[in-house]
Amino acid sequence: MTDFDSLKPDPSMIGDVADAPFAILPEPEAMFRKRAARLRAGGDNNALTPYIHFLAALCDVQADCVAATPLADGPSQNSARPLKGERCAPGDDFDRVARDFFKRAAEIPMPEPSKAALANLDGLPLAPLVRALAEDEDAAHGMAEHIFVAAALQVYLTRLSARLDVTKLEPDEPGVCPSCGAHAASSFVAGWRGAQGLRFCSCAMCSTLWRYVRVRCVACGTTKGISYREIDGAGGAAKAECCAECGAYTKIIYQNIAPDAEPAADDILSLGLDVLVSEEGWRRAGFNPFLIGY
Ligand SMILES: [Zn+2]
Ligand SMILES: [Zn+2]
Repeated sequence: MTDFDSLKPDPSMIGDVADAPFAILPEPEAMFRKRAARLRAGGDNNALTPYIHFLAALCDVQADCVAATPLADGPSQNSARPLKGERCAPGDDFDRVARDFFKRAAEIPMPEPSKAALANLDGLPLAPLVRALAEDEDAAHGMAEHIFVAAALQVYLTRLSARLDVTKLEPDEPGVCPSCGAHAASSFVAGWRGAQGLRFCSCAMCSTLWRYVRVRCVACGTTKGISYREIDGAGGAAKAECCAECGAYTKIIYQNIAPDAEPAADDILSLGLDVLVSEEGWRRAGFNPFLIGY
């Protein structure tokens, strides 16, 4: 279904939008709490309910971890994608953050295989698991450990991205996070004053949001052959932007329709839309480590 009317900017907001920043950096603790609350609120009556409640508990642990371990000096910002090295091969600080996260996560109720995977991480070097997540999503597929490593890496990278100088971030290749170089998980039309109606891509790893054209494929950058799908009767807060040029789709979450929407949480809560469009043959472009295997 194509819905171009809803894509027109609100003219009354143009003055607001002119000053909107290119990127928005996270406030880590508040963001993980909001994500947990959003997952909890939207996670019932969903085929994934037990998994969503587990993820909500993980997000609360992520929030608890934000202030728990000290980090060395802020990242240097002398190049594009300043956090790419930390995402693909993080240093000792990450190890401390991750070990603290694993210890706290062990308190969450979870199925036996997840518990075993978490215990298994105790003796494992983390670098190969991080590399699998960063370079080869297929290698991470099916590993029960990956979800915990990804969640710990989110804490670490989000803490680092919060320390970046937002004015130094610049547009990168289509759909690539200007902070850490990960591919966008999904996209988001803002409902808050100052950015109303603007579209942002969201990074599932470092939680940076960055501006993106409203009607443009996030995977290949084309503006041609774009169409939209949504689940009938679901309220229209999530749509899939499908690209005939490259066959990929990226979700758009509309915060003006769902004011409590949070990019990563709503990406998970709208999994039914992924099922619908993938059955039509579209390929998901967005990378969200909590959706590997779905
Ligand atoms: Zn990022
Ligand atoms: Zn495309």
